[in-house]
Amino acid sequence: MKILVCLKQVPHQDARLDVNGDGTWIREEGIKFEINSYDTFALEEALRVKDAGEAEVVVASIGPERVSQALRTALGMGADRAVHLKDDALAGSDALGIAQALAAIAREEQPDLVFTGLMSDDGNASSVPPMLAHLLDMPHATAVVKTEHKDAGLRIERELEGGALELVEIDLPCLIAVQSGINQVRYASLKGIMAAKKKPIAAKTAADLGVAELVGAAAAKVAIEKIEPPPKGDRAEILEGTTDEIVAGLLGKIKELGLL
Ligand SMILES: Cc1cc2nc3c(=O)[nH]c(=O)nc-3n(C[C@H](O)[C@H](O)[C@H](O)COP(=O)(O)OP(=O)(O)OC[C@H]3O[C@@H](n4cnc5c(N)ncnc54)[C@H](O)[C@@H]3O)c2cc1C
Repeated sequence: MKILVCLKQVPHQDARLDVNGDGTWIREEGIKFEINSYDTFALEEALRVKDAGEAEVVVASIGPERVSQALRTALGMGADRAVHLKDDALAGSDALGIAQALAAIAREEQPDLVFTGLMSDDGNASSVPPMLAHLLDMPHATAVVKTEHKDAGLRIERELEGGALELVEIDLPCLIAVQSGINQVRYASLKGIMAAKKKPIAAKTAADLGVAELVGAAAAKVAIEKIEPPPKGDRAEILEGTTDEIVAGLLGKIKELGLL
């Protein structure tokens, strides 16, 4: 069995974000990045299939040079090899452009199973997985909280509103968009990190994959016009400073309100 896991690298959850000069994205200089949290669960789910039998796990990511760090981490956790689509032509791609590029990678890899996260921690579109499944003509399931192999397919549980579950059987090949918390994500061991240094990361361009016309700002039908930080409420105060100063300031406020 071959499993493709789509990983996005996103700003670290502790990064302090500022809007960039033209107001269309965040300022990326000086902030740390990490694997999208949902995608770590997707990778763990794939690695568990590999641990249980024969499977090759290929991780794929689209993004600039820094993304190779995320791919190395995934290889350190146990993925076998990586594909990195690194091309300035991808700038300004909308979700469909990203899905087209991932679909081209999947067509080359011919996986039996594609795992993605349910959504990205930054863009939050939750659109790439169903679009990707459609482009690959694969059945798919989103918000998946349990997977179990059964005959030539999977038996899965999907999370519905109010904690209800939906049980679904789905044929392979298929795409599974994983909800967070589905498993306990492993850390990369020292041995895994050392082994990862020898594992291949194949660098691709949009032209290599034949998608140059389908990605980037020119192909996008959705353009980010503006992003704004959340409005500060009338009674809200943002505490500035180091973590210690913020904690001390917060304690002071709690005491002022007589809550402590
Ligand atoms: C500089 C810049 C400009 C942009 N301009 C635009 C624009 O003009 N219009 C617009 O709509 N969007 C734009 N985007 C957003 C970007 O294209 C989004 O990443 C894309 O729309 C996918 O949406 P999402 O990240 O919310 O993914 P979701 O659909 O929320 O992601 C779900 C899952 O899809 C997979 N996935 C998503 N992205 C990747 C990736 N890069 N590599 C591998 N797997 C992935 C992951 O498994 C992820 O968990 C821009 C982003 C940047 C950085």
